[in-house]
Amino acid sequence: MSIKIDKDKCVGCGKCIDVCPGTLIYKDKENKAYIKYEKNCWGCTACLKECKVAAIKYYLGADIGGNGASLYVEQDKDILNWNITDKNGEKVVISTNRKEANRY
Ligand code: SF4
Ligand code: SF4
Repeated sequence: MSIKIDKDKCVGCGKCIDVCPGTLIYKDKENKAYIKYEKNCWGCTACLKECKVAAIKYYLGADIGGNGASLYVEQDKDILNWNITDKNGEKVVISTNRKEANRY
């Protein structure tokens, strides 16, 4: 599991850097975020949830989505839309509400 950051989408806000518990994300000379230690990413998805421009894509493990499956998050106020593409290219969107995250 790891992430990939789309430099063309990144606006350099630095939020992913602030929330990564492993201090794995840095900025380059162009003020764009990149992951330095891909193998150390344990897939907590904190950076995906903070990126307001959906610049971070998360690659799912073979045991979850199959090789090549990926995930990115789009935000609409408190709603997080988790866009999943499985190994066959099938797409699924799961929506969650931030305000209900600690409800249960
Ligand atoms: S998924 Fe978690 S561990 Fe991996 S880079 Fe993002 S914040 Fe860091
Ligand atoms: S949160 Fe998104 S836009 Fe902000 S620095 Fe990270 S990748 Fe770039």
